[in-house]
Amino acid sequence: MSKRRLLAVVPVLVMVMLLMAVWRASAQDPTPYPTQTPYPTQTSYPTQTPYPTFTPIGQQTEGTAEPQSTGPIQTGDMSVQWVADDQLYESRYPEGMTFSIKITSSAGLIEQARVVWTHAPGRQNTLPAEIVNPETGELLAEWEHTSGNRPPWLGIEYWWEVTDAQGNGYSTVHVTGAYEDNTREWLYGESEDIIVYANALPQSVIDDTISAMRSQRETYRAAWGGLLPFKPRAILFGDRAVWEEWQEGVVNQAVIGTTNLSWGATVQLHTGSSPLSDISFGTVPHEIAHLYQAWFAPTGFPSGTWWIEGNATFFELERQYDYEGRVRNLAANGELPVLLQGTGPNPSGLGPDGIGRLGYDVGYTFFKWLVQNYGLEAHHELVELLQSSDITRNEALETVTGLTVEEIETEWREWLGAEGPAPTLAPTWTPQVFPSPTPFIFPTEEG
Ligand SMILES: [Zn+2]
Repeated sequence: MSKRRLLAVVPVLVMVMLLMAVWRASAQDPTPYPTQTPYPTQTSYPTQTPYPTFTPIGQQTEGTAEPQSTGPIQTGDMSVQWVADDQLYESRYPEGMTFSIKITSSAGLIEQARVVWTHAPGRQNTLPAEIVNPETGELLAEWEHTSGNRPPWLGIEYWWEVTDAQGNGYSTVHVTGAYEDNTREWLYGESEDIIVYANALPQSVIDDTISAMRSQRETYRAAWGGLLPFKPRAILFGDRAVWEEWQEGVVNQAVIGTTNLSWGATVQLHTGSSPLSDISFGTVPHEIAHLYQAWFAPTGFPSGTWWIEGNATFFELERQYDYEGRVRNLAANGELPVLLQGTGPNPSGLGPDGIGRLGYDVGYTFFKWLVQNYGLEAHHELVELLQSSDITRNEALETVTGLTVEEIETEWREWLGAEGPAPTLAPTWTPQVFPSPTPFIFPTEEG
């Protein structure tokens, strides 16, 4: 596909979904989403007049490609005539982004201005604008890549918020775009389920990813009680130099992927150490499951646990090897680790069989057991329970299965072919303390 054509099909998110998602995020999350890396100058922004609270933008028509805005929002004196003109957005990837516009108010000069954008619903970035010319209302905001890692092709939905000298407020129509990489050739594909970009990789990775996500659509829907309220992105790299280009600081060579809810995206590097189809049929469905976890039950899936990784592994369409067979071997050898006491198996730890990924594989069998015996609706019920921080994981499991924790562990072990009762740990377990340096960001380490 030519670059020109590629640019012509830069995807547009349906705004109503974004707005519903913002509402949903604020309505259901027990704890607020962590803010993105704070923009350094945000706190020092002069706020003589606080920004007015803008009411949500009105109805959109679902299913249309272009957002149909009901128009800008104004606060204060509604008779004020606002004019917004010459609105521009430019991706300067990998250097940053430039936003510019002219806004005037009939009541006075513009006193404050900022641009606000999201890559995914619920998480906003704000950037104070320079008032280039107070007379013409010419505004400029430039985001520099040194303010934080951003891979290419993240979606952008942005708008301007300004106040005039009389304290009247104005918020412009939302506009969508992308942090485009115009410096090289990218392949692009989009379906109902996902937006995919790939560089230095064949077209098959786009087609396969779209196919895998289509195959998993109804599984996600049933397991989570709905689909993600935004279309996730998979940004796939075949060239390590391009992979490192957008990352600030020293790049950890072992990390070949990351998934970030505030980006609404997973980014992955294909290193050649495994077949390319693993990315499409394994990694992407796994990483998109992490987005579901972070969206639907963020406190219910603590990072760094067998629970979160086993759960995401359950959503892989194809597996790198026979995870279940490996765990059944452990069970046959009397080497099945204790699951529901203490912290359980370390996700990337070595098993007694000398193979890594212990918590991934063991955790995978737990979710397979759960769904095989109680259905995807049990998974959905579990998710609903885990949205509340008032209930522990084990209490939620007891509610869903009608069994005690001991019975659950025993049934799962017997399903795997283990003999004898589940081992019990001494009652002085260390409390569950999980390292979660960056919530809702899931690095993929090279196995
Ligand atoms: Zn994972």
